[in-house]
Amino acid sequence: MMIRNRCLKGLLLLVVVTGVVAACAPPTPEVVEKEVEVTRQVEVQVTRVVEKEVEVEVEKEVLITPTPQPEKHAKYVFLFVGDGLAVAQRNAAELYVAATARTGDRPEDVDLLMNTFPAQGMNTTYDLTSVIPDSASTATSLATGHKTASGVVGMDASGKQVYENISEVAKANGWKVGIVSSVSIDHATPASFYAHEPSRGNYREIGEALATSDFDYFAGGPLKRPTTSSDKQTELTDLYEMAEDNGFTVAVGKAEFDALKPGVGKVFAVPDYNIGGQALYYTMDRVPENNLSIVDLTRKGIELLDNPDGFFLMVEAGKIDWACHANDAAAAIHDTIAFDNAISEAFEFYRDHPKETLIVVTGDHETGGMTIGFAGTKYSAFFEKIQHQNIAYDEFNAQVAEWREAGNTRFEDTWPVIEEHFGLLFLTADAREELEAKADEGDKAAEMQYGLALSDLELEMLEEGFERSMKGEEERAQDDYQYLLYGSYEPYVVKLTHVLNQKAGISWTSYSHTGVPVQTSAIGVGAEMFNGYYDNTDIHAKMMAIAGFGGSLAMASQ
Ligand SMILES: [Zn+2]
Repeated sequence: MMIRNRCLKGLLLLVVVTGVVAACAPPTPEVVEKEVEVTRQVEVQVTRVVEKEVEVEVEKEVLITPTPQPEKHAKYVFLFVGDGLAVAQRNAAELYVAATARTGDRPEDVDLLMNTFPAQGMNTTYDLTSVIPDSASTATSLATGHKTASGVVGMDASGKQVYENISEVAKANGWKVGIVSSVSIDHATPASFYAHEPSRGNYREIGEALATSDFDYFAGGPLKRPTTSSDKQTELTDLYEMAEDNGFTVAVGKAEFDALKPGVGKVFAVPDYNIGGQALYYTMDRVPENNLSIVDLTRKGIELLDNPDGFFLMVEAGKIDWACHANDAAAAIHDTIAFDNAISEAFEFYRDHPKETLIVVTGDHETGGMTIGFAGTKYSAFFEKIQHQNIAYDEFNAQVAEWREAGNTRFEDTWPVIEEHFGLLFLTADAREELEAKADEGDKAAEMQYGLALSDLELEMLEEGFERSMKGEEERAQDDYQYLLYGSYEPYVVKLTHVLNQKAGISWTSYSHTGVPVQTSAIGVGAEMFNGYYDNTDIHAKMMAIAGFGGSLAMASQ
């Protein structure tokens, strides 16, 4: 921009000089020749001045920003954001695969694709409000290179100044742009890559930014306020119609989605169902024949965006965060594996275009304070136990609500259903002892069963959660201690996931986010720049530099 301004100044000077010469003499051929000569001289001088100034500018930039510039530029840039995905979540998914898919192998023999990438780094995630940030501020850091306050999307903390995001820069550079999420497409993380709002709760305004966008591909859960204002008080134009008027093909459901082919133009794809939070199903609850997955959305995105001028594709796995808020390791692990499979789609593309592609994988922050290890399991972990859970916490909430509404459900009545969906076994003390003896003798089946049998303490914890769930919200005592036990979740379900997770050797410290750094991985052009320890704003700076959009490396350190 600065260079362009100087050229403009040079041109203006040129025009002025030409004008002066022309004004001083009548237009005879001789004079015209002279005029041209003078013009040429001035032109040369101006060019020299510009060159000198540019050199000085470059020197200054090098002094301010020691971050190395990539040798080559990428024209296909993928950013995968696992919401709530930090080291423990990535390791838990890997340990789960090791324990179930290849029993007997050591964990290091099984890798998530993201963990095999040649560049591995860590980055801080704090925002201007707290060391424990939210998804709006962290996504804003990734998208724009600026720190902001929790809750703000693509703007400064006061909500007045708009920060340009990498997707907009990519679009301005002639690239195509795609935004994918497994939660509602107007949620904080995806929104930070196409909208600018002082509050992440401005779903209507965010939806309007999407509907009027010149980006090429949006795919994720349905909009939250398609026909009303953000406060739901006023009826407004349907945003899907607005998107269609703006040239989007709106594909609803799997059949319409599958029919999309390259050349279709701008696409806005959503599922044909509305479940909690307007998200896609959890991977473990999804019916593959009917329901789109994050892998489908990513694969289609690559197919539709692929073009010789380049593209930027951001893919968010948003439900890893939701599962971790609820302290449900199984739901988080299965969604992390699906996220890794989505990364595989980009990896296939990278293999076809290794010299032009960059793939970056990161988390926006950690959620739940997940860790590998639990006081009760000491130095052991039993990740295979997680495989017995076959339903995510929120699907199971409906079952608990049914029991509550029945009014006369006893704790024992729920046991067969718990065994079916969580694998936990309700056995008498005698039966447990028998299993333990067999396990000690080397009986593998008995050992597995014994590992899932509930101890007296675990039974007590579950019963406490059950009793609380059977009370209506109004009847439940609300105090700090109860919050520590259940957060704002269905008490019985929280206890079920806690007990199963703890048996596996996974524990949790929070129902919110935490402030630990996250792991960032990269492969492809300039990937080596993602080694080391840095801040989330640096991820933006590195991507910008590698994409050849430049100019923001200094910004990242502000
Ligand atoms: Zn969250």
